[in-house]
Amino acid sequence: MNLQSGTFYWPTTFPDAPSYPALEEDLSCDVLIIGGGSSGAQCAYYLADTNLDVIVIEKSTIGSGSTSSNTALLQYSGEKMFIDLINTFGKDYITKHLNLVKKAINEIEAASKNVTIDCEFNRRDTLYSASCAEDVEKLKNEYEFLKMHNCELTFLTKEEIEAKYPFSRDAAIYSYNDAEINPFRYTHALLNYAARKGVRIYENTEMNGHHYEKEQNMMVVSTKNRCSIQARTVIFAAGYEGMEIKKEKKASFVSTFTVTTNQIDNLSEWHNRSLIWETARPYIYMRTTKDNRIIVGGLDDNTNYSDDRDSKLIHKRDQLIGELNKRFPKINAKAEFFLSAFYGGTVDGIPIIGKYEEYPNSYFLFAFGDNGTVYSQLLSKIIVKEIVEGYSPDLALYLQHRPIVNKE
Ligand SMILES: Cc1cc2nc3c(=O)[nH]c(=O)nc-3n(C[C@H](O)[C@H](O)[C@H](O)COP(=O)(O)OP(=O)(O)OC[C@H]3O[C@@H](n4cnc5c(N)ncnc54)[C@H](O)[C@@H]3O)c2cc1C
Repeated sequence: MNLQSGTFYWPTTFPDAPSYPALEEDLSCDVLIIGGGSSGAQCAYYLADTNLDVIVIEKSTIGSGSTSSNTALLQYSGEKMFIDLINTFGKDYITKHLNLVKKAINEIEAASKNVTIDCEFNRRDTLYSASCAEDVEKLKNEYEFLKMHNCELTFLTKEEIEAKYPFSRDAAIYSYNDAEINPFRYTHALLNYAARKGVRIYENTEMNGHHYEKEQNMMVVSTKNRCSIQARTVIFAAGYEGMEIKKEKKASFVSTFTVTTNQIDNLSEWHNRSLIWETARPYIYMRTTKDNRIIVGGLDDNTNYSDDRDSKLIHKRDQLIGELNKRFPKINAKAEFFLSAFYGGTVDGIPIIGKYEEYPNSYFLFAFGDNGTVYSQLLSKIIVKEIVEGYSPDLALYLQHRPIVNKE
């Protein structure tokens, strides 16, 4: 899959990132993780503290998949509002999901403090504004639901927005305690932690086949470099490319675009360096970075052909920069890095843990959706609990055949 094209900012923030050897021998282990992106890294991080023997294989280099294009706003609110998710899943289900995504951000913070590589984790507030007057009522309903469920947030009027920002909107939810991170450094940090605890990591090692040995109750994975790994359990954490291994009906792709600007001298107009997004679909979102750049992304396009996607990149870059400069006219930002990428979502707005009959002892981690990093953490924790303790009460919420429980 041609996952993404363009120029990538995050890898430039960590030029001396750790590297790992390619696999050169046949091995066996308790848990094999396919994929060295943020999802595989989260799994490895949690498994590193168990007594299980764990291997990670990455077909290219660590963090070189979607993790390197991830803009890494860490939020509990996603593309589908919670009040819409309730229509599909019911209140109890979605309340549980909300509590889990909120907890996931805390867990990412805890992990980022527990590792030795700086992950540039910062708590940030979010401005979620109404893109047009018609969206105000819906936004207000979302606010009421979140407020009722103990989220820390306020509802801003037009005047209050104008007092804080150099642009105007009819209304907005202003929420506290979301976050941002450097996803490339975070992924390396988690895997570095895992490696130091004995997890074996191999780069340039691509899985190109697999089968199940019934007698031994083991999965056997073969690699392009002609080695094999026997594993009691396999976690497929191959990101959007996981769909090439097992097509999941509930998931699909669109194309998305991001720009990272030059370093900006003065960001004082940007209230609390908050994360900014809006109710329009497709939306535009933005954040700042440790070295005072701005990342702006969105303007998603329905195409899932990479040539078509890439042909739109220059136009989308100019549109994104134009929208940024419209909101912050004094900044006069320029694009220094820009990319186009596939971006996966699910039809019902909830990420997926796939368990399939033809893949015994295996989990597919489809952390698809705009809060993919948060979902990576959430799903990893559930999968690891399942593997270690044999049961996780939250698994049923995310299985591909999620039961629509508690529907009202
Ligand atoms: C432009 C963009 C912006 C985003 N913004 C946000 C955001 O603001 N907030 C947020 O939370 N999420 C965001 N996301 C989503 C987030 O990037 C993803 O959810 C996250 O990176 C997924 O990590 P992953 O490890 O699952 O996938 P990846 O990072 O793609 O990692 C999978 C790895 O598996 C490897 N692999 C694949 N096949 C094989 C194989 N056969 N053998 C061995 N290795 C294999 C790949 O090389 C890759 O390194 C964004 C995504 C994109 C594209």
